[in-house]
Amino acid sequence: MAFNMRSRAPTNDTRLYELLGVSKNASETEIKKAYRKLAKEYHPDKNPNAGEKFKEISFAYEVLSNTEKRDTYDRYGLEGLKEGAGEGGGFDDIFSHFFGGGLFGGGGGGFGGGRRQRKMKGEDTVHRLGVSLEDLYNGKTSKLQLSKNVICGSCKGHGGKQGAMQPCHSCHGRGIKVTIRQIGPGMVQQMQSTCTDCRGEGERINDRDRCKKCNGAKVNKETKILEVHIDKGMREGQKITFHGEGDQQPGIESGDVIIVLVEKDNDAFKRVGNDLYREQEVTITEALCGFQITLKHLDDRQLLIKCPGGSVIQPGCKRVVENEGMPFYRNPFTKGNLIMKFNVKFPENNFASSEQLKKLEKLLPPRPNHEAAGEDAEEVELVEFEASHTNSHNHRSEAYHDDDDEDESGGGGPSVQCAHQ
Ligand SMILES: [Zn+2]
Ligand SMILES: [Zn+2]
Repeated sequence: MAFNMRSRAPTNDTRLYELLGVSKNASETEIKKAYRKLAKEYHPDKNPNAGEKFKEISFAYEVLSNTEKRDTYDRYGLEGLKEGAGEGGGFDDIFSHFFGGGLFGGGGGGFGGGRRQRKMKGEDTVHRLGVSLEDLYNGKTSKLQLSKNVICGSCKGHGGKQGAMQPCHSCHGRGIKVTIRQIGPGMVQQMQSTCTDCRGEGERINDRDRCKKCNGAKVNKETKILEVHIDKGMREGQKITFHGEGDQQPGIESGDVIIVLVEKDNDAFKRVGNDLYREQEVTITEALCGFQITLKHLDDRQLLIKCPGGSVIQPGCKRVVENEGMPFYRNPFTKGNLIMKFNVKFPENNFASSEQLKKLEKLLPPRPNHEAAGEDAEEVELVEFEASHTNSHNHRSEAYHDDDDEDESGGGGPSVQCAHQ
């Protein structure tokens, strides 16, 4: 079966070392230091255009910080890693990047979706945090308790005494087994399956050598308190990222804890961007003669809002109180506007006697000149509207309009009949 192993030739591939800017015999600490520095510089949060670079250095670090992977890479290069990556490992796209294009190939390259991230970096933990509008206005620090996997301090993530965890012999530490079948003359089929001896872990340990604290799991659950700083002016959906605070796992960069803000509804104010909206009801007297109202703001300040008599508040109209909206994020001394929308409350029926109404009428604008009623005008009654008065789904009325014949013969009116007599 030796003919199947052709790719396992020695290599002098040093591209991953070059990516991190370290020599081939760099120590673990040097590699870590180099990666940290680069990761800071190229992190997508700071440098959104350097996503490709960030992925490359993360991949380089993932390989070089793992003794087994580094060993494989030193001996067989990227090809060797690719062979060891196994089925469903999520490595496909990173390899196609390195082999098919990207930095080294010169082609388009690029990484696929999020699958890659699982292997190189732990999963991100996303937590939705409900925040009141008051807190988004004033700013606040929330304490959030989370439970996460932390590398076992007792065995330093080795799962037992150092060296007790041995690469699985059955799969040579790869976690998968590759079997090759000859299916015809000169044709072979390669099959991969998860190693049953180590359950895909790639390593095994004697029960008595297992770390007592983590029972060989390499990690323990720990509770951690995160301080979430809600800055003034933050918004619904805004993310606060705690880099590397996700679950720890040996040989893998920890994922992030991402807090997603959920803005809670407020009874008094509605937020639109940096503006605040408030519906305010005033009586017709206030709408016509002016008013003075007080308003409790989101920081408990009392605003005194005055509208002088003569400035008529139309039903549904808006007025603006400038600079009393939400503070701008990262520029909290600048604020949006407070937009007041007025509903005018009219008085109840029979609120005044007929004499009072006459007096009132003298004060109000004169009546418009409606067309005078003709002699034949029929007087109809105006009653209160109720839902049962609507006929929008009654098709009978339409039928009358459509039926032209009937209109001509029967509906012609008395004058036609008079002519026949
Ligand atoms: Zn195994
Ligand atoms: Zn342990």
